[in-house]
Amino acid sequence: MVGIHTPSKLWQLLFLASGYIVLGKISIHFATMSEGIAIAWLPNGLILALFLLRPTREWPLYASVIIPAEIIADFPAFTYVQAIEFALINIAETMLSAYLIRRFTSNTHNFHNLHYVLLFIIIALCLSPMLSAIFGGLVYHTQIESQSNFLAFWRIWLFGDSLGILLITPLLLSWLELKHQFSYRSLTLEPIIMIPLTLIFAYILFSNDFSPNLLPTTPIIFILVLLWMSYRRGLMESLTMSVLISMIAIYFTVHHQGPFSIFSPVQNTLYLQEFIAAMVVSTLFFSVLLRQMNEKTDQLEILSKNLENQVAEKTSALQLANQKLFELATTDPLTHIYNRRFLLERAEEEVNRGLRYQSDLSLMLFDIDLFKSINDTYGHHAGDKVLISLVEAVQGRIRQNDIFARIGGEEFVILMPNTALNEAVALAKKLQKRIEEVRVPINNTEITFSVSFGVTTISEHRHTFDILLNHADKLMYQAKNAGRNRIIYSDE
Ligand code: GH3
Ligand code: MG
Ligand code: MG
Repeated sequence: MVGIHTPSKLWQLLFLASGYIVLGKISIHFATMSEGIAIAWLPNGLILALFLLRPTREWPLYASVIIPAEIIADFPAFTYVQAIEFALINIAETMLSAYLIRRFTSNTHNFHNLHYVLLFIIIALCLSPMLSAIFGGLVYHTQIESQSNFLAFWRIWLFGDSLGILLITPLLLSWLELKHQFSYRSLTLEPIIMIPLTLIFAYILFSNDFSPNLLPTTPIIFILVLLWMSYRRGLMESLTMSVLISMIAIYFTVHHQGPFSIFSPVQNTLYLQEFIAAMVVSTLFFSVLLRQMNEKTDQLEILSKNLENQVAEKTSALQLANQKLFELATTDPLTHIYNRRFLLERAEEEVNRGLRYQSDLSLMLFDIDLFKSINDTYGHHAGDKVLISLVEAVQGRIRQNDIFARIGGEEFVILMPNTALNEAVALAKKLQKRIEEVRVPINNTEITFSVSFGVTTISEHRHTFDILLNHADKLMYQAKNAGRNRIIYSDE
C-alpha cells in the first residue's frame, strides 16, 4: 500500500510547492503595483483548495512544504525570516478557513449550494483574512516600512488575500468537478466565439492608455457578459472567464494602463479590487443560484414524472377493476354469456329502435327439455356441463349483433336485431339440429338432450319487450305441450 501511495503523495507535494512558487512569483511580479501595493496574493487560493479537499491529518505535511515554497517565492523581495513569518500567517489563515467551513457545512466543497457560497465568502474572504491581516500588517509595519500606517498595511493584506482566494479556490474546485461533467459535445459555436471576443475586448479596454472617455465604471460591462455566460455555460466556464479578465485587468493596471490608471495608485488599486470582487462574486452567486434552481426544477420534473406514472398505473388498474365489475354485473358466471339483467337493459333500446326505424327485431326463447331428470339422473354437475355445452353449440352460430342471454336456470334468449321472423325460425332449426348432435360425456356415458323453442317478432301489438317475451314464452310452452323438441313460431 505504501509503495502505491508514496509516489502520488510526492507528486502532490511537488505540485503544491511548484504551484505555490509560481502563483507567489506571479503575485509579486505581476500583481503588485510599483509602489509595493499587492493587488492579489494568489498562493493562498491553492492551499485553501487543498485543505478543503484533503483530510486534516495531511495538513501538517502540506504546511511543511509551504514554508520553503514561500521562501523561494519571496526571494529576493523579502528576507527568509519575513518569508517564514508570511508562510506561517498564510498557513494559519487558510487552515482556519478550511476548518470553519468544514465545521459549518457537511461538505468540503459544494458550489451547488448558495448557503455554502455564502459561508465561503464570510469565512474565507472576510473573517480569516481580517485576522491574518493583523499579523501580516504587523510584520510590514515593524520590519519593512515602519514609517507607514499599520491600518494601511492591514487593508492591503486583507484585500490581497481575499482576492487571491476568490480568484483561485472556486476556480480550482469547479475544475475538479469538470472531470465528471465536461463533454466536447456541449462545446457549441456560442462560447467559441464569445470567449475570445470577450478576452480581446478586455485586452483592448485595459491596455488602453489614459483617455478622458474611459471611466473606472466601464468594466462593469464584463459583469453583464459573465452573467450571460453563467446562464449559458455554468459555473466552471464563467468563473474561468472572470479570472482571465481579472488577470488582464491586474496586469495592465500594474503597468499604469486602462481605466484604473487615472487616479492615485492607492485609489487605482481599490477600484481594481472592487471591480474584481464584484465581478467574481456576482458570477459565483449567479451561477450557483442558477445551478440550484436547475437542480430543483430537475427534481420537480422527476417528481411529476413519478406522479404521472403512478396516476397512469392507478388509472389502468381502475379501468381493469371497472371492466371486471361490468363483467360481473352483466354476465352469467357459469356460461359467461349475458345475464337477464343485461338483456333487460339492452332489450328496451332495441325494441324502440326497431319500432322507430321500422326494422325487424325477432326474439327466440328456448328451454332444455326435461332438464330436471338430467340433474336427477346424473347430478347437478352433469346438468351444469349440459348448460355449458348448449351455450358452446349456440355461440358459433349467431350473429355479432345478436344478444344471447341466460335468463333462468335452463332458459335462454336470443334477441336478433334486423332479423325477420323467417330468418329467426331458420336459425332455430339450425340450432335444434346442432343441439341434437351434442354429446356431453359424463362418467362412462354420453348425455344427449333437446330443446323447445318459441320464436316471435315485434309488431304493433308487441311494442314492448315484456309483451314480446311473454309471447315467446307462450309459444315455447306450446312447444313443450306439443311433445317438446320443436319450434313454435308466430307473428300473429
Ligand atoms: P321441461 O321440459 O318441462 O322444461 O322440464 P324440466 O325438467 O326442464 O322442468 P323445469 O324447467 O321446471 O326444470 C328446471 C330445472 O333446472 C330445475 C332446476 O333444478 C334445474 N336448474 C336450474 N338452474 C340450474 C343450474 O344452474 N344448474 C343445474 N344443473 N340445474 C339447474
Ligand atoms: Mg326445462
Ligand atoms: Mg325451465
